[in-house]
Amino acid sequence: MKRVLFFVFASCLVLLSSCRNSEVRLKVTRSFDCDVLVIGGGPAGTASAISAARHGANTILAERNGVLGGTATAGLVAPFMSSTTPDGKTFLIRGLYEDLVNRMIAEGGAIHPLDAQIGSWTAYRDKGHHGLTTFDYECLKRTLEQMCTEAGVDLMYHMLFIKADTRGGKITAAYFATKDGIWKVTAKQYIDCTGDGDLAYQAGVPVVIGDGEGGIQAVSLFFTVRGVDKAKMDAHNAKCLAEGDYEGQWYMNEIKAAREKGEFPSWRNKIALFENLDGTYTVNMAQGDGVDGLDPKQVTDAEIDGRQQVHAIVKFLRKYVDGCQNVELVATAADLGVRETRRIEGVYTVTTEDAKNSVKYPDPIFCCANSMDIHKKGFVDYVARNTNEPFYVPYRALLPLKVDNLLVAGRCAAAERPVMAAIRVIPPCFAMGQAAGTAAAMAVKAGVGPKEIDSDQLVATLKADGVYLP
Ligand SMILES: Cc1cc2nc3c(=O)[nH]c(=O)nc-3n(C[C@H](O)[C@H](O)[C@H](O)COP(=O)(O)OP(=O)(O)OC[C@H]3O[C@@H](n4cnc5c(N)ncnc54)[C@H](O)[C@@H]3O)c2cc1C
Repeated sequence: MKRVLFFVFASCLVLLSSCRNSEVRLKVTRSFDCDVLVIGGGPAGTASAISAARHGANTILAERNGVLGGTATAGLVAPFMSSTTPDGKTFLIRGLYEDLVNRMIAEGGAIHPLDAQIGSWTAYRDKGHHGLTTFDYECLKRTLEQMCTEAGVDLMYHMLFIKADTRGGKITAAYFATKDGIWKVTAKQYIDCTGDGDLAYQAGVPVVIGDGEGGIQAVSLFFTVRGVDKAKMDAHNAKCLAEGDYEGQWYMNEIKAAREKGEFPSWRNKIALFENLDGTYTVNMAQGDGVDGLDPKQVTDAEIDGRQQVHAIVKFLRKYVDGCQNVELVATAADLGVRETRRIEGVYTVTTEDAKNSVKYPDPIFCCANSMDIHKKGFVDYVARNTNEPFYVPYRALLPLKVDNLLVAGRCAAAERPVMAAIRVIPPCFAMGQAAGTAAAMAVKAGVGPKEIDSDQLVATLKADGVYLP
């Protein structure tokens, strides 16, 4: 009897402890293999996959949504921020980005960066807004898919990356949650373009979040409206500019008045309506503070709050802003706009001083002149540069510490916070992606890791592919 009781007691203990420490056991229902696996189909990931495939690698692009473009489509973020010098006169971010823009222009779905004038395209802003690209969301979705298909990318939507296997400093498999169960993908080279560094983090790469001390940039829920009286707003803007009335230009007094009456729910102090090609406007005015973009519950709450803000902002526009009396909501974004989460620690982390002074590197992958703007609760902190010369990003900023067969491109690459605030916008993310995909294909061909490829050859290949590296 004692023995039976002891056995029952011991079994209960084992059961209890296994419940407490239980790891979900994943049953793999399908497996795939490729040369290069890119995770995340935003600007960086799509450019990575297209470039890897164009250079001969058998490439899978896995994306959790059913659309390419990332924040630019699912997040309704528009326009593409500057790709030129600060005077808007020299087109800097070219290569694959230029190819994309030209294809969209041919379909009537974009304005060339050298042609987009400061005005309603830029929400009447000039600082950092020269040489941007106004585009059509649907044209972007379709063109990115066409470019992937043409290059031979194996596009796999509805795949949420959840876990990586590693051995000896290398990733050996990536696992995805799908409707069918867990799918496993193995590759020679992996590229993390999740924006959040999900793969790098799971593989053990050290990361920094926000300012490293709990500070994180504000999130925003983008939305689109129709019914703006452009002529009226253009005239208002011209009058304010002529009088040097910047508060008037962005309807700051109207916002103050509405806020006092509890009729303006956001922290933003200026209106920000960017004209689109079809006469609708993209609005960047609903904001959340201190939201951890890696915490689904916090993101959910910010999305719910954001949609309430949008509803009230539309009412505010109709009531307070001359020219917006007939504005109607068209859509809110499906995905919250998260400005920062993880950035990897790389073989080289681009420093703020580097960017301020346009430091040159032996392994440049692109140059740009975007402003370093940190979005805080209700305002933007601009970090000044010491020169108007473009600054460079080196290949080593895409190479993470600790893992050998991995590249990281886009919002989670290795750069100090202010630098990432400049290069996280869409054109530089395309440029990082182009370099990562090209490098991964070179690594596959040479049978080495991305840290061992010849960076001179990479730079030469990028130049041959249209990247501007003066
Ligand atoms: C509020 C806000 C305003 C902005 N305004 C502008 C602007 O006006 N102009 C501009 O040029 N830039 C702007 N940006 C910056 C720009 O939109 C993003 O930083 C840029 O899109 C980042 O590109 P990315 O490819 O690194 O990441 P993302 O665009 O975030 O793409 C990441 C992709 O990875 C997918 N993904 C993520 N995790 C996983 C996973 N675990 N498994 C599978 N797939 C995954 C996502 O679904 C997404 O498609 C703004 C950003 C924000 C947040």
